[in-house]
Amino acid sequence: HHGVRVNNIGTRVNIQNQHPESIIINLDHGDPTMYECYWKNLDEKYSVTIPGNQSLSYFSNIKNFCWFLEPKLEESIKTLHNTVGNAITEDYHIVVGTGSSQLILAALYAISDPLNEPNPIPVVSEAPYYSGYPEITDHLKSGLFKWAGDARSFDKDGPYIEMVTSPNNPDGVIREPVVNRAKGMLIHDLAYYWPQYTAITSPADHDIMLFTVSKCTGHAGSRIGWALVKDINVAKKMVKFIEINTIGVSKEAQLRAASILQIISLSCQKVKPYNLENFFEYSQEILAKRWKKLRNVVENNELFCVPKFPLQFCNFMRDFTQTYPGFAWMKCKEGVDCEKLLKGHKILTRSGKRLGSDVEYVRISMMGNDEEFDLFVQRLSIIHGMSNGN
Ligand code: PMP
Repeated sequence: HHGVRVNNIGTRVNIQNQHPESIIINLDHGDPTMYECYWKNLDEKYSVTIPGNQSLSYFSNIKNFCWFLEPKLEESIKTLHNTVGNAITEDYHIVVGTGSSQLILAALYAISDPLNEPNPIPVVSEAPYYSGYPEITDHLKSGLFKWAGDARSFDKDGPYIEMVTSPNNPDGVIREPVVNRAKGMLIHDLAYYWPQYTAITSPADHDIMLFTVSKCTGHAGSRIGWALVKDINVAKKMVKFIEINTIGVSKEAQLRAASILQIISLSCQKVKPYNLENFFEYSQEILAKRWKKLRNVVENNELFCVPKFPLQFCNFMRDFTQTYPGFAWMKCKEGVDCEKLLKGHKILTRSGKRLGSDVEYVRISMMGNDEEFDLFVQRLSIIHGMSNGN
């Protein structure tokens, strides 16, 4: 047939045919390719076919305030949240974005625009924070908002915006707002509030909640994120932003994302196709194995440590579960520049410095492919002294 057939498999860094010591291990980016094997094992029938005559229009649903949102995607987002129990969708307005990255900017625009303040609204987040926030906030030198750093040291009166990331990138901690002043506005970034990373303790019901397929299913390349927004006027302003920025969001990407989300919802049902494994159990298992390997190495090495997390009851798993963050927030011995030390061993990580913290810390992606991760733990296990990179 004449259509673009898109299967559900991602790409892989080829590290075969190279001498192990010469391979540069890049754990700097949070590129979530670790679920590839789940999608690879999936039956052909779950692929999406988009014929040449489909989705030509800019519009998806002119009756919806978010006129570029594909109804299939809207439906599969609601079904997934109801299945997982991680967010309320009733009485919320859904805005789709080109990744949650675009929605961060759309949300900043939407809540700072009506204020008519003479000065840019400060944007804060508790350190260590996702390095994307200062970059996204300040890149265009907006007159509406301006990055103001660590929320812990913010003490000004007047309006401000606080990014609350829970579980947090980079350290996996469950977070709440820390400034708590009268004129605060909150954006909850819940990219990692999925059962493979952390216990689902209650359905979130904040004013603005951001999610992304990137960290949920691993389809970062589709660039699909969504916002659940309580206030229709805020939601409409976000839509306006996306209208001006990209005149909507790719229909092909939305349709594929809709199919992917449907599959994982189906995989969680009691009655389901016999060969469809529960996606969240499967992916939690991958992360659990990696965290075990990392902890084994770190426990036998006085140079490094990684955070510990309490057991928590997960409503989705119906059991007490461990926390397995998508990043390891690793600390080196006092006075050691950890990024530099690891770089000397051809391991690329993100320095704590870039995340509002100290050089002793690095953020390590736990979400890459298996071969690379195994090579990393192996190489980490032989770093003891400070002979290299310092
Ligand atoms: N928020 C957080 C906390 C993230 O870690 C990321 C991705 N690293 C994003 C937002 C952006 O994700 P995307 O644009 O792929 O949806």
